[in-house]
Amino acid sequence: MQDESIFDELNEECGVFGIVGHPTAAALTYYGLHALQHRGQESAGIVSTNGDRFHIHRDMGLVTEVFSTETIERCKGTVAIGHVRYSTTGASELANVQPLVFTFARGEIAIATNGNLVNGDRLRAELEAEGAIFQSTTDTEVIAHLIARSREETIECAVKEALNRLVGAYALLILTNEQLLVCQDPHSLRPLSMGMVEGAYVFSSETCAFDITGAEYIREIEPGEMVILDDRGIRSERFAPPAPRSLCSFEYIYFARPDSDIGGINVHSARKRMGVQMALEAPVEADVVTGVPDSSISAAIGFAEATGISYELGLIKNRYVGRTFIQPSQMMRERGVKMKLSAVRKVVEGKRVVMVDDSIVRGTTSRRIVQLIRDAGATEVHVRISSPPVKNPCFYGIDTADREQLIAATHSLEEIRRAIGADSLAFLSPEGMLRGIGRESQEKNCGHCLACFNGDYPTVIEQELVGEGQR
Ligand code: SF4
Repeated sequence: MQDESIFDELNEECGVFGIVGHPTAAALTYYGLHALQHRGQESAGIVSTNGDRFHIHRDMGLVTEVFSTETIERCKGTVAIGHVRYSTTGASELANVQPLVFTFARGEIAIATNGNLVNGDRLRAELEAEGAIFQSTTDTEVIAHLIARSREETIECAVKEALNRLVGAYALLILTNEQLLVCQDPHSLRPLSMGMVEGAYVFSSETCAFDITGAEYIREIEPGEMVILDDRGIRSERFAPPAPRSLCSFEYIYFARPDSDIGGINVHSARKRMGVQMALEAPVEADVVTGVPDSSISAAIGFAEATGISYELGLIKNRYVGRTFIQPSQMMRERGVKMKLSAVRKVVEGKRVVMVDDSIVRGTTSRRIVQLIRDAGATEVHVRISSPPVKNPCFYGIDTADREQLIAATHSLEEIRRAIGADSLAFLSPEGMLRGIGRESQEKNCGHCLACFNGDYPTVIEQELVGEGQR
C-alpha cells in the first residue's frame, strides 16, 4: 500500500550461516547470525546436530531476543545452520521461521534459504494437486516436498533433482542427520561464501559473519554448485550447468554490510567508487556533501573526495527507533522520519547541500529527508542517487514494491525532482554503477543482475508474477 510505511526503503530478504566440524557450532552460528542481522529482523533460528537428532530453536524477533545462553547451550552438536528472515514471501509468522525442519522417509532435514523462487507458486500448486499438505507459506517448504518425493537413491541426488525444478534465486543450506549440502542457484543471484575457522568449514551470506567468528574467507560458492560435507570430508559437484552469473547489484548498493566483501570486492570501497562515478556524471556547485545514513555514507565520501566539496555529517540516525510504529496519521508519519533521522543544523544551515542517497523507491522518504534538511536551514538541496532509477519490481527476494508504486517507473526525472522537493536530482548510470562496483568480467553486466533498473530479468518470469508486479 503506497505510503503505508514511514520509510520506503528496499528490504533485504534473508541471511544464512552454517558450520561443520566445530565443538561450539551453535554459538558460532549465533555470532554469525548477529553479524547478518541487517539482512532480516523478523525472525531467527538455529538447527544443530551431532549426527543423531536435531536440536532446534527458532522464534520471531532479533537474534539477541530469540537466543539466550541457555537456548544456545541446548543446541548441541558440531554442525549447525542458522537463518535470519525478513519475509518477502510467506506471512510473518512462526510457521515460516527458518530453518524449516521436516521428517521424511530418509530421516530429518532442515533447510535455510536466501532468495525467492519465481516458480514457487506453480510448484506449490502442482504439489498440492498431488496431495501435498503445506504447514508454511514459504518457498523453502516447496523445496522440502520436492526432495522428499524424489525416487533418487541418495539425498544428494534427490536434492539435485529438486533443484533442477527450481527457477529463481536461492542460496541454500540443507542439513540432514549425516550431511550438510550448500547450494547456489545457477545464476548466483544471492551471495554465498565459504570460509574456515579452527578446521571447521563455515558458509555465510556475507563475509562480515566470518570476521566475527574468526573465520578466514576461502571462496564464493559457484553458480550451480553443490558443496557436500559429510564423514567423507568435503567435495564439490554441479547440479546444473552454470547460467550467466547475475549477482544482485543491490547487494553492493544497499543491502550488504560495508565491511563485507562480495566476489573479492569490498562493499564500502564499491560504494565509494559509485560516489566518485556520480560526481563525474553529475557534479554540482555546493558547500557540503552529506550521506543518508548508513548505507549512503560511503558513496557520499566518494562524491566529496571527487568534487573537493567537504563531506560532513549532516544527517544523524537514531539507532534506538523500534522496528515498527503505529502510524495513525500523516502527522505521525512525518514525525516518524524525524524519530529516525535528524539534520545537524550547524552543518547545513545557510549551506548548499548535496544529499547522497543509494536509491529512490516510492520517493516518500527522499521527500521527507529533503524537507528535514531544508527545515534545518539549508539554502539548496541537491540529491544525488548512487544507483540508476528503480523501474521494475524484483522477483528474487527483494521487497521492492509493485511497479506502479515505483516513482521512477511512472515519473520523469523532472517530475521526481519536483515530487521530492530537490533543487536538482541525478541518478547514477548503469555503466557508472558497474564501473564503480569494479568487477573485472567479460560476463553480461559484469556478472550482475540489473533487472530492477532495466527489466532484463536473468530468468524466465512466470506470467502471474509479471501481472502481480504491475499492480
Ligand atoms: S531485480 Fe534488482 S533487487 Fe532483484 S536481484 Fe536483480 S538487481 Fe537485485
